[in-house]
Amino acid sequence: MQAIQKIQDEPAGEHVTDPLTADQRAEIEEIRATGRETLRPTVPALEEILYQPLTVLDRGFVRVVDYMGDDGAIVQAARVSYGRGTKKVREDRGLIRYLMRHRHTTPFEMCEIKYHVKLPVFVARQWIRHRTANVNEYSARYSILEDEFYMPAPEHLARQSKSNRQGRGDVLALADAQRVLDLLRADAARSYANYQEMMQAHDLARELARMNLTLNVFTQWYWKIDLHNLLHFLSLRGDAHAQYEIRAYADAMAETVKRWVPNAFEAFDDYVVGGGHLSRAGLAVVRRMIAGEDVTQENSGMSPREWRELQALLDLDQETGAGPAPAWGQQPAG
Ligand SMILES: Cc1cc2nc3c(=O)[nH]c(=O)nc-3n(C[C@H](O)[C@H](O)[C@H](O)COP(=O)(O)OP(=O)(O)OC[C@H]3O[C@@H](n4cnc5c(N)ncnc54)[C@H](O)[C@@H]3O)c2cc1C
Repeated sequence: MQAIQKIQDEPAGEHVTDPLTADQRAEIEEIRATGRETLRPTVPALEEILYQPLTVLDRGFVRVVDYMGDDGAIVQAARVSYGRGTKKVREDRGLIRYLMRHRHTTPFEMCEIKYHVKLPVFVARQWIRHRTANVNEYSARYSILEDEFYMPAPEHLARQSKSNRQGRGDVLALADAQRVLDLLRADAARSYANYQEMMQAHDLARELARMNLTLNVFTQWYWKIDLHNLLHFLSLRGDAHAQYEIRAYADAMAETVKRWVPNAFEAFDDYVVGGGHLSRAGLAVVRRMIAGEDVTQENSGMSPREWRELQALLDLDQETGAGPAPAWGQQPAG
């Protein structure tokens, strides 16, 4: 009953509670106070936030628990050197940008990072599709899940999009948002109460009792990945087409990558996030436009959809005003 009351009393929205308990915070403080010596490269800007949770959504977080390598490790591998392999800062930056531009990816795989993530199950389902990471998840066969459910902030409760079947449109009116939140809270409270009853009153195994919990219940995992595949994850899940809830995690992780490998992140932001891909037909259209030709969809050789996407990429879309990909963190919601 206490759990039900807790779920029903809590407001919805961003960061409504500290995602950690006092004991968990104390553990983090203790490990942060324990200095370690190493000959390996470390990155002061990342050490500043090492182990510290960055709050995501209302009760989730992402925190860096370990990492290997830095910008220097990328150039060290690219030059296959005996020492650090770094030269002048400007030359190293230039090499990293060259590697990113030409999709010479393996030097980026020399850096690894390990995160501890607390996330709703429906976000975890999207996330787990990224197969190039190592994952270990909290076991709901072994342990009892906490009564923690994601409750979106009202501004993230939106209508089904009319133009994109896989997206959301305008924000719900306040009264509708309020009703949706009431339903979400009631479902979470009822399913958690039944979860407890099945285990406590009927001795049902945890691995079975969990099956009635709603998809917004929080789970946790350790997730380790190399920089190349992490940037691939960020390019897909930080994109405006990704669902807001996973994008919120990508945004927090992007902040950690910016601290960790600033040159690699800058190159990624410039060439991948801020760049665009042109097909053969798209490139031909651009060439014809530069030559002063009046190119239309009908004479472009492109389908209406391809044409619309090209217009958006080139910032020529009068209707939507869509332009080229903005820099990281400036993507519109959607
Ligand atoms: C906006 C969006 C919408 C989506 N919608 C859907 C959907 O409706 N339904 C759905 O099922 N999924 C959907 N996905 C998931 C998507 O199809 C990918 O499964 C997911 O993004 C992981 O991408 P990935 O395979 O490139 O990543 P990773 O698994 O990290 O793989 C990275 C790269 O490694 C290579 N690789 C890894 N494993 C293999 C393998 N076994 N064989 C060959 N190459 C491999 C590939 O080159 C791959 O690109 C969606 C993703 C996004 C971003």
